[in-house]
Amino acid sequence: MLTDTIVCGIASIDKTLFSQTGPCPHCGGAAAPYDTKKKIYATLHTQDGKKKITVLVRRYHCRDCGKLLYAEEPFYPDTRIGSAIVDLATALSLVNSFSHTTEIINAMGIDIDRGTVRKYAHSNLPIPKINFFYGLPLPFSLFTIIGRTMSRKLSAAEGTEILAASGFPSAYRAPQDGTGTSHSIQKQREKRGNQKAAVNGKQ
Ligand SMILES: [Zn+2]
Repeated sequence: MLTDTIVCGIASIDKTLFSQTGPCPHCGGAAAPYDTKKKIYATLHTQDGKKKITVLVRRYHCRDCGKLLYAEEPFYPDTRIGSAIVDLATALSLVNSFSHTTEIINAMGIDIDRGTVRKYAHSNLPIPKINFFYGLPLPFSLFTIIGRTMSRKLSAAEGTEILAASGFPSAYRAPQDGTGTSHSIQKQREKRGNQKAAVNGKQ
């Protein structure tokens, strides 16, 4: 039931166009449409095998400085899977080992490996807002996306709606001092784990 709901929610993103943009961030010049790039948001395990969920991201070029610009997209900077999936990995890693986090995500029908989970958990990405759902800490972003299908709003998802639900991830900039990032929280967890191990070792 949970798996179906999550798979349906993520599948509803398939082929959504992201085209929202502003002036050039480098020089303030006007952005002119250039082309549209297909990016993989997630790979799902369905009854018919693996299914790649893709999104279309419009690219622009700046009329003044000529730089290539991407529309706002549902990806954090320098990541290769959709931001709600990254949020899921960092949220579950708060209370589970990386291996167990990987197992839970795979059981939800979403393709991910332990190395990827670990990489995002130890990145400077934010800790997402969390909602408990069937006893699991799910990120608000994923919860909102699957909520669409639960409320039977089955029309194709709109880019702006997904961006808002995801907290505009492509505009995310890590805090200079690293406070509150997933990496800083994981370091605290490791420290507590080491302290516990030291105490147990003395007994
Ligand atoms: Zn420019």
